[in-house]
Amino acid sequence: MNQLSAKELRDKIKAGEIKSVEATKAVFERIAKVEPTVGAYISIFEEQALAKAAQVDKRIAGGEKVGELAGLPVAVKDNMCTTFGTTTCASKILANFHAPYNATVVEKLLSSDAIIAGKTNLDEFAMGSSTENSGLKRTVNPWDIERVPGGSSGGSAAGLAAGLCFAALGSDTGGSIRLPASFCGVVGLKPTYGRVSRYGLVAYGSSLDQIGPVTQTVEDCALMMNVIAGYDPADSTSVDEKTAPLCDYLAKLDEPVKGLKIGIAPKFNAGADEQVRKAIDEAINTYRNLGAAIIEIDMPHFDYAIAAYYMVATAEASSNLSRYDGVHYGHRTRNPNDYIEVYTKSRAEGFGKEVKRRIMLGTYALSSGYYDAYYLKALKVRNLIRGDFVSVFEKCDCIMMPVSPTTAFKMGEKLDDPLKMYLSDIYTIAVNLAGIPGISIPCGFDDKNLPIGLQILAPAFGEENLLRIARMYEKQTDWHRKRPNLNG
Ligand code: GLN
Repeated sequence: MNQLSAKELRDKIKAGEIKSVEATKAVFERIAKVEPTVGAYISIFEEQALAKAAQVDKRIAGGEKVGELAGLPVAVKDNMCTTFGTTTCASKILANFHAPYNATVVEKLLSSDAIIAGKTNLDEFAMGSSTENSGLKRTVNPWDIERVPGGSSGGSAAGLAAGLCFAALGSDTGGSIRLPASFCGVVGLKPTYGRVSRYGLVAYGSSLDQIGPVTQTVEDCALMMNVIAGYDPADSTSVDEKTAPLCDYLAKLDEPVKGLKIGIAPKFNAGADEQVRKAIDEAINTYRNLGAAIIEIDMPHFDYAIAAYYMVATAEASSNLSRYDGVHYGHRTRNPNDYIEVYTKSRAEGFGKEVKRRIMLGTYALSSGYYDAYYLKALKVRNLIRGDFVSVFEKCDCIMMPVSPTTAFKMGEKLDDPLKMYLSDIYTIAVNLAGIPGISIPCGFDDKNLPIGLQILAPAFGEENLLRIARMYEKQTDWHRKRPNLNG
């Protein structure tokens, strides 16, 4: 069963060839065996999952109609609200937080009959690139347990790669779906800003955050998008379907894009490690052999993306995180002397180091006297970067580049140097500033047997084409079928 993709398993469950209970049990057996090593989950819901699986099986046996994800065990990043279990954001400040409602994506998973196996680990409040900033636990890379899984959706990617679910959801503010997908050898899609509802996603950088699938194959990714994409009146930044029509992402998935034009920027790619570069070049060659034209592009403001991002994201974070005051949500200090101490001590005790660093940075960038010099300037740069993409997409259908300059790095390697850690995001961050979609797909391994990810970017709301382009490559290779050799 372990060898099946989500879609293959879903089809077999629907056809009554495999019982959802069997699949769910297999997942929990695997969790019992390897989760102590991997550490992908913050919470698991075995009893609830098995009960729901039995219900789905019964409905299938009775010939009833079931949803798109019927009986499929999936995982959700622990920054999406669920009425069951806790929603911790991997932070001590929310360690015991029970959300009063489900995120829209969670509702959609449930109503399409998915089985939610558990909630996955992340960098605290999704701030990080390695999952090492989790305030609650450690997640390792299943390909080499001394290395990081990437972040911040490290639990979702590591859990999927280790066979602890069949598909997962992550969130991506500056690369947090694509980077862990690349480090763990799975597929990860950050959709266009506004395509998937953020309602019930705990806010980090609200103008950048987007929920998306982490899956074994591009086909699974299309299947998950069919479930989670769409307008949501509860999210004021969600885009309505008249403005950007929704489509069935599976319908034309196997049709190659004719006359495909791929933009590449050799100048950026040169910044990646040699083995990463080689794998990316080979992947682009595969497309060339399929008849694609390769066009050299230039994005003059790309180099400023990290600087602009870390202004915008931290400014928004400092504002979003002001709600954790020891009164409304989460941890409250014991025995405060006055109400000021309720705020200051609760926050001092509840937030980790990286979160505090960002709150300070963001508060500074927004303070009067500095607002124009930092925050406003970053917004202007953001606009220029967006403009770069618009003009590049006049010449080509997609852009290809690495996801990350390196493969998975060692635990602790970048922990003491936040700037070094921020540089892991060099290829992913501009995408969030521009709001466009980007996917990471497996495209090879380095000599340490660590996965490499190819990143493909498309114009806003171009997910259908983006998935078709990714699928063209997937059909030519079997990188996505490789699994780490992990025994508990
Ligand atoms: N690594 C980036 C950050 O720390 C992106 C994180 C994310 O996408 N959530 O902000």
